[in-house]
Amino acid sequence: YLISLEGGEGSGKSTVLRHLENALKEKGFSVVCTREPGGIEIAEQIRTVILDRNNVKMDARTEALLYAAARRQHLVEKVIPALEAGTIVLCDRYIDSSLAYQGYARGLGMEEVFSINKFAIDEYMPDMTLYFDVNPEIGLARIEKDSKREINRLDEESLNFHYKVREGYLLLLSRDPERMRLVNAENDVEEVFTDAWETLERYIQE
Ligand code: C5P
Repeated sequence: YLISLEGGEGSGKSTVLRHLENALKEKGFSVVCTREPGGIEIAEQIRTVILDRNNVKMDARTEALLYAAARRQHLVEKVIPALEAGTIVLCDRYIDSSLAYQGYARGLGMEEVFSINKFAIDEYMPDMTLYFDVNPEIGLARIEKDSKREINRLDEESLNFHYKVREGYLLLLSRDPERMRLVNAENDVEEVFTDAWETLERYIQE
């Protein structure tokens, strides 16, 4: 299975991902955890270019294409081989990030961004997506408290942008409720994990 984790800043998805990995391993599943953009060398390099704080010149379409390029390389080098070996892949961000951030919040259009990503991923849509929903004010406040985190140019953008990202995710959720499952990420991490784990466990046992 290809399982993606999605959500705005400070939704706790990366922390929960580690817990989900452990829980799956305890159940005897073979699991690979990875993240986007990144996960392999070429894609980590693309990530550095995209998330460069000084890179104010980057055009929105260029950004969307770079995300799609990083996604393609990561998929081919890491995700597909793992899936073919029967491993569960947990991916921190995938196509829905592009649709919510670049397609919806940046205004490029979800359909347009979907079409370049379709070229990048072929039939490799996520089998299931956990969407960690959090009010951006709560999410961003969590990040500010956690100074160790990598701060990038998007964190500095208006709260309005993050509200749009959330709106984008909720739109995706309403269009594809079969695949996307909502996790309330406003609770504390323990509860968020329990909620995510119940959904994931039910899904893989179906
Ligand atoms: O997952 P993480 O929070 O580390 O993501 C890194 C940054 O990349 C985030 O700030 C997110 O806003 C941004 N991002 C983006 N568009 C994507 C994927 C991630 O702006 N398609």
